[in-house]
Amino acid sequence: MDEKKKYQYQDELTSSRQAPEYRSGMSLNERIKLVHKLNYSKDEVIAHTANKAVAEMVSHMEKEGIGNTFDRFMQQHPQCGFGLTGACCAFCSYGPCRVNEKHPHSICGKDVDLIVAGNALRRLASGMSAHGAHAREVFIALKAAGDGSAPIPIKCPEKAWAVAGALGLDAEGKSVEQICVEIADRFIDDLQRALPKHHDTLFALAPKERSGLWERLGIIPISAYHECFESNNLTSHGTDSDFESHMQAFLRTVLAYAYTTVVSTSLATDIVYGLPRRSKLNVNLGSIRKDNCINIGINGHAPMVAFAICDIVGTPKIMEKVKAVGADDIRLYGMCCTGGEFVERDLGIPLVAMASSAEMAVATGAFEAIVVDQQDVLPGMMPVARRFHTKVITTSPSGRKEGAIVLELDYYLKNLDRIYELAEQILDIAIENYRNRDSEKIHIPDIRAKVELGFSVEEIARLFDGSMPDKKIHGLARLLEEGKIRGIANFGSCGNIRGAVFERNQVVIARQLIKNDVLVTAHGCSGMGLLFAGLAHPDASKLCGPGLREVVEALQIPPVLHVGACTDSTRASQVMAYTANAAGQPNPAMPFAMVAADPAAEKTMGARYAFILNGIETYSCVQDNTLASDRFIDYVSNRLRPMVGAAMNWNPDPYQTAEDILRMLDRKREALGWPVSDYVIGTKEEIEETIPDTVEIGKSFCLNS
Ligand code: SF4
Repeated sequence: MDEKKKYQYQDELTSSRQAPEYRSGMSLNERIKLVHKLNYSKDEVIAHTANKAVAEMVSHMEKEGIGNTFDRFMQQHPQCGFGLTGACCAFCSYGPCRVNEKHPHSICGKDVDLIVAGNALRRLASGMSAHGAHAREVFIALKAAGDGSAPIPIKCPEKAWAVAGALGLDAEGKSVEQICVEIADRFIDDLQRALPKHHDTLFALAPKERSGLWERLGIIPISAYHECFESNNLTSHGTDSDFESHMQAFLRTVLAYAYTTVVSTSLATDIVYGLPRRSKLNVNLGSIRKDNCINIGINGHAPMVAFAICDIVGTPKIMEKVKAVGADDIRLYGMCCTGGEFVERDLGIPLVAMASSAEMAVATGAFEAIVVDQQDVLPGMMPVARRFHTKVITTSPSGRKEGAIVLELDYYLKNLDRIYELAEQILDIAIENYRNRDSEKIHIPDIRAKVELGFSVEEIARLFDGSMPDKKIHGLARLLEEGKIRGIANFGSCGNIRGAVFERNQVVIARQLIKNDVLVTAHGCSGMGLLFAGLAHPDASKLCGPGLREVVEALQIPPVLHVGACTDSTRASQVMAYTANAAGQPNPAMPFAMVAADPAAEKTMGARYAFILNGIETYSCVQDNTLASDRFIDYVSNRLRPMVGAAMNWNPDPYQTAEDILRMLDRKREALGWPVSDYVIGTKEEIEETIPDTVEIGKSFCLNS
């Protein structure tokens, strides 16, 4: 972007690496050096992570001789430079092929640009498969709730009618159950078909200005399954060898990802499991109960078994069993995105870990069972669980773990009608296992944050004078235009071990942004870092600039609005689109940003580019493994902007990233003729060393115990 690169503050930690800055034409060795330099040791993680509970657990695990992700990361050094920068292909058995200046072509004849683009496309397709599997389970639940093939209640019929209206379904004279089946069928069709057909979900739910643009660019997908199939076909041995054609497939796959595995998943989840509800909760490891309580962690993404457990956990029948083993209570705890789904729905289930810190939760020794399904459940959890009495139970045939107890939904869906039996069996194992608990081994950091959650689009529209049928949020548009709110930034994606200090970058960036009157929405694992840092509570208004502070204090809301789990990027993009509608502007003209500070899982590739295709500038501190190709970097960082109105921005320094975002927001404000005020970059002491009083160390708020 057209930036004058003079920053007010340089991150001491990033600059201590002395990594060369990326420039087009640099040698592969320099590129590898750049990435190698930007790594941080376990001791640096302990010293600098914003999540002090994780820091304590990493130290505790070291003392106890329990290995974790950070140890395994150190053991991988130095990571292969070809893999790190994307200059390696292992698609066929001629390979692996590694290219550099001396040997610029692979055995089949690919150059570095084609190899990097092919790797990126396959990673994107893999991420879409993961979100697609999550989507498929939610659609199955929606259909089963409608046709009665599983005892799943429909918790938000109003949302079913609203989605039916948005999809243009004829609801006349139909029951909500029939409508749920029709919605599910439509979502499933757009997920799975092989032949071209009008993409109902995309055209119904995307802003018209965007869908028209995507049609003109020729990137409307056929279906998620087909684009996944085609991404693998196109990159297979001796098939497509045109960089532009690879990138066309990349953009098409991003749209398939966004509209058939994310947007429809979020809407269907709301119909079946209910809208988010405002609630107060404690989060982080210090929310785990130590004494006389049976603790069960629920980790993963798929909702069917997780919500069934949630439905029955406090029933008299279960409580009788709890008392019989000598415990007083039984509690569920959320991890990763299932945790995100729970906390947004006011179920009284604390969120204790994101994907990469789930091992630390297990290492507290306080869990009778960890119930896992699929995605982001790291295999490294198993040896940690074996050090304690903790039983790991898998519930998805897609996500088994060696040595775990298997109590799963059948691959052919033959036991959908017995989902609550499955849930009870799981609870029975956890309850019985309480007898094996060794209290001496339990170590729970006394660190937690208080949060206020549950911001659906409907709730945000209610707070800010919005009109859901018109898809307009007038109040936010007015506040942006007046300048009380400088811009809106959404934080999503996961957290990385490579190239970043765990849960530091997103916290630094978010604190700089709210200090400069930027309203933040957050979801997924990256958003959890902001919760653990105490930013999702009204008391965090003290950290805001004067304009944002006035707004959030008047409404008694946090400056960071938690909108849910990974697929709830849908809510953030709807809030942005509806605010743009109210301002009478297209997305790219608006002061909006997407921040995926430390992307890691394959799914984050699609998440970031979906925002870009929606016209939202996107920022990351960790680079995808694509640095070997100037052509790829140029395409995503520059060429996309005139095509779709936004592009990818990468800067490993979180302070500079915050400043890049503020400059971009101000440029957009200036172009709109809206007032622009100076921004102030806070120092390290102000941003990192001052722990807000929404985070308590050593004291209990007891809001949810
Ligand atoms: S597809 Fe080409 S570049 Fe990839 S491993 Fe095979 S020969 Fe090498």
